[in-house]
Amino acid sequence: MTYLNVDSISKNFEDFNALERISFTIEKGEFICFLGPSGCGKTTLLRIIAGLENQSSGRLEQNEIDISHLPVKDRDFGIVFQSYALFPNLTVSENIEYGLRSLKMSKSERQQRVAELLELMALQDHHAKYPTQLSGGQQQRVALARAIALKPGLLLLDEPLSALDAQVRTRLRGEITGLQRRLGITTIMVTHDQEEAMSMADRIVVMNHGQIEQIGTPNEIYSHPASRFVAEFVGTMNTAPCQIKNKQLVLANNQYLTTDIADVGNDTEHATVGIRPEHIELDDSETFSSTAENVFAAQIEHIEFQGRFTRLTLNIDGWNTPVYADISLTYGGNSTLRFGQQIQVRLPARNLHLFTPGGTLNPS
Ligand code: ATP
Repeated sequence: MTYLNVDSISKNFEDFNALERISFTIEKGEFICFLGPSGCGKTTLLRIIAGLENQSSGRLEQNEIDISHLPVKDRDFGIVFQSYALFPNLTVSENIEYGLRSLKMSKSERQQRVAELLELMALQDHHAKYPTQLSGGQQQRVALARAIALKPGLLLLDEPLSALDAQVRTRLRGEITGLQRRLGITTIMVTHDQEEAMSMADRIVVMNHGQIEQIGTPNEIYSHPASRFVAEFVGTMNTAPCQIKNKQLVLANNQYLTTDIADVGNDTEHATVGIRPEHIELDDSETFSSTAENVFAAQIEHIEFQGRFTRLTLNIDGWNTPVYADISLTYGGNSTLRFGQQIQVRLPARNLHLFTPGGTLNPS
């Protein structure tokens, strides 16, 4: 059953449309990320769902009950902000216990619940400390414990990791998703970090200019982006302008590209072809015949060691911007690659995406 129904929500700040008819549904237990660039409206949407902001029009339903105008305090939601918003004069235990005071619980029941949460968030050793005596990651764990203390139906997280350093972020990502799965708590998280959204969400709502560009699983969004914006915002997509002439793709240098896309659509001079860096193949033994399909001469402009892979920046004829190619460390001959080297690359037909005025076409 649908847990939350966001139905045609719009928000205007005077004459500026921050959100335009946003509609989607969330199932119970799902982890949803709102992902998009700064100013696209993610926080405004989260604040409207939380009841901290009024929508200009549209409707919100929770378990089929209209909550569009329910005050914040009556919504069954827990909220965690980027700034931990802990009470500085209360200890960790007191911060967590604070929200429980609104419930009809005996002191011993409250203490029992706080003890459970301290254990859940691995904060037992810090229970008597004040927020200023904690690291950023620990403070955010306290804020999370406080938000889930009341066992809310929906957990709303507004960029909860963005103030933390890279290592703590990665660890907390795992802790939050682990906790979310164990408790089965329906969660919405706002982030502008596509890696964070990809690694944490069951489904991602990709937003741009107050509108939804695509909703889907991380895999769907990465493999089958609905628009060029999504393709370039989530992961890296190399692109080049091309024409479609008699069902064939032609680059600016008049080179033809073969694609597995069954029907590339009508003739146009305004198409764009795309390929992800990990799909570009390098010729390490000069086995690519120059007449083989989609083979290009390329020059290495930059070599960047990234740990799991090496990112090459290539200059390829017909592609008017630098092209990134990610090659695995086990790739034969990789260590001999050097700046300025001329190589051959293949852009496999099965990996080409096509963005046309009529829509986006992805390989199957
Ligand atoms: P960020 O990642 O930078 O936080 P965001 O996607 O969360 O961005 P919002 O904070 O939702 O974006 O803002 C969406 C747009 O609405 C922005 O252009 C912002 O300037 C505008 N906006 C937000 N709040 C107000 C307000 N109270 N008054 C006027 N404009 C506002």
